[in-house]
Amino acid sequence: MADDCIFCQIAGGKIPARVVFQDEDVMVFRDLTPKAPSHLLVIPKRHISSLAETDDADSGLLGKLLHRAVETARQEGLDKGFRTVINTGPEGGQTVGHLHLHVIGGRQMTWPPG
Ligand code: AMP
Repeated sequence: MADDCIFCQIAGGKIPARVVFQDEDVMVFRDLTPKAPSHLLVIPKRHISSLAETDDADSGLLGKLLHRAVETARQEGLDKGFRTVINTGPEGGQTVGHLHLHVIGGRQMTWPPG
């Protein structure tokens, strides 16, 4: 846990969030400023600052995060499709330094995202 990390604080129950799922490794909560009708964030509870900081030992956890994204989309009823996004580093558009996977849906997505 990183004391100054907002997602660690959410994972630890220290600040509120609209949590829709959690187990010992993973938490899913609604994005504070949704970019679509459904916009959720899938995070590891353990602090990992970005996708670039993962290695082979994290393969199982990364698989779990992706699987949870699919389950989240199912729970949201996104049967026409959805987008998963992992922003990595400043040029990747990452603004919160704790690995998170966006699950976004409920409207038509465009590409490229900008
Ligand atoms: P990124 O730009 O990929 O790092 O995404 C960070 C996301 O976290 C943004 O979509 C923010 O709206 C979202 N966010 C920031 N603070 C919170 C919070 N306290 N609760 C829920 N979502 C948040």
